[in-house]
Parts: sequence; C-alpha cells; structure tokens
Amino acid sequence: MRVPADYHMHTPLCRHAAGEPIEYAAQAVKLGFDEIGFSDHSPMPQDDFDDWRMRDADLDLYVEKVRHAQRAFPNLTIKLALEVDYLPGQEQWIRHLTARHPWDYLIGSVHYVSDSWAIDNPLMLSTWKSRDPFEVWTAYFERLTLAAESGLFDIIGHTDLCKRFCFYPTQDCAALYDRFLEAAGRHGVAIEINTAGLRKDCREIYPSPAILERAAKHGVRITFGSDAHAPAEVGLNFAEAVALARSNGYTHCCRFTQRRCQTVPI
Ligand SMILES: [Zn+2]
Ligand SMILES: [Zn+2]
Repeated sequence: MRVPADYHMHTPLCRHAAGEPIEYAAQAVKLGFDEIGFSDHSPMPQDDFDDWRMRDADLDLYVEKVRHAQRAFPNLTIKLALEVDYLPGQEQWIRHLTARHPWDYLIGSVHYVSDSWAIDNPLMLSTWKSRDPFEVWTAYFERLTLAAESGLFDIIGHTDLCKRFCFYPTQDCAALYDRFLEAAGRHGVAIEINTAGLRKDCREIYPSPAILERAAKHGVRITFGSDAHAPAEVGLNFAEAVALARSNGYTHCCRFTQRRCQTVPI
C-alpha cells in the first residue's frame, strides 16, 4: 500500500514547532513516504498580529529551508506550501503572499472567528466558556465557506477545528456542514483529513466521520495531513486516516504541483 502524502507540517519559524525540515524529511523517508509537503503558518500583514506564525521577513528563509530539504532528499518529493489563515478582508494580502513564491498548494485554515479570538488557542480557552458553542460553530463554518468560495486555496485545513476543546453544540450542525461542503465541491477545493485532532482533547480526526460522509456525497476531494509540529509527528495515525477515508467511499486523494491537482489511488 502506498502511503498518502503528508501535506501538513510546520517548521520552527512559526515559533511553536520544533525540528528543521530536513529532520521531518528524514522521518518521512524512514516511514516509507514518497511525498510530503511543508505548510507552515504564513505571515500576517502585521508581525504582531499574534505570536504563533512566521514573521514576514522569514518567508524567504522558510522557502530556503524547504529547498534545502529538497536537495538533501532527492528521492523524496517535497512540496512547498503554506497554511494561510483566512480572515475576511485579507484577500488582497493572501494574493500578495501567493505571488511571492511558486507554491505547490495553499491550505486555507480558519483559526480566528473574529480578529482577536483563535478558537484553538489554549491561552484563549476561557473565551469558549462565555460563548454559546452553536454560535461559535456557526461563525466558524461561515468563514470556512467563505474560504472555500474565495478561490484563494487548494485545500481547506482541519475542517472542524471548532471541536478541539470539546465545546459541542446541542443543535444539529448538518446544515452548516452542507453549506460549506457544497461550496468546496462547487469550487473544486479539497479538504484535508488531519490526524492532529487525535492528539487534542477531542481525540478525533478532523473532520468527524459525519462530515466526511457528507463530503463524499458532495464530491469533495481529500488530502492527508499530520499537522506535525515535530519530526516525530510526521505521518502519525495515517493508517487510521486512510481507513476513515475508505470507509466513506474514497478511493483517491489529491497531490498538488504548482497548484495543479492530480488524483492518485489511496
Ligand atoms: Zn491550523
Ligand atoms: Zn497546521
């Protein structure tokens, strides 16, 4: 069995990950991967927006670190990518980032449901306690839908990140999921099966089986990602991720080169 490419891994430039790209690549080779992709947190227009992403001045260094890994591991395909925060109003900035290097793909992720609250930030956990989960999930999926419709991204990251700390709504969220997935299907944007959820409080892959089942019905394509923030996390729980995809009828996943998608069997 071919291991699907791990398309979601970080570098120390985002200030909360450990290990150089060559160490992630060495681990991937050890595990039998033939393709991986780096997708570190992209800079914001203001470096002080938060403290868990690369600074604008480090973008070229990031690209150089990935190129270094490509040279060091010529038999491993290493894609150059970014995980870009989607915030409404930042489309121009994202286009500017897109033009600066020849990215293989861009992952659009929603971490912020407002300019000041990243819902997955443990330091902001108390904010959840004063909010209605359904209201937050609604805002989260509305932004995810806008991200899918923006035409800026190839892949949407961790599509139910809002479950990370287990603040689950009691209401039915199917309509929120369907609106997003219909947009992703219509715009040809893939979603990732991200195993980092297994390492968080929610103890579940992003997205949930309920979302992935609906994604398959909407014809939404998939990629796989460990969201590794350390070399030891590369490819973690991929067997489980592949089993989840297969059980929902998926037979193929996407690989990207210079933002062009090719589907390969899983
Ligand atoms: Zn993320
Ligand atoms: Zn990430």
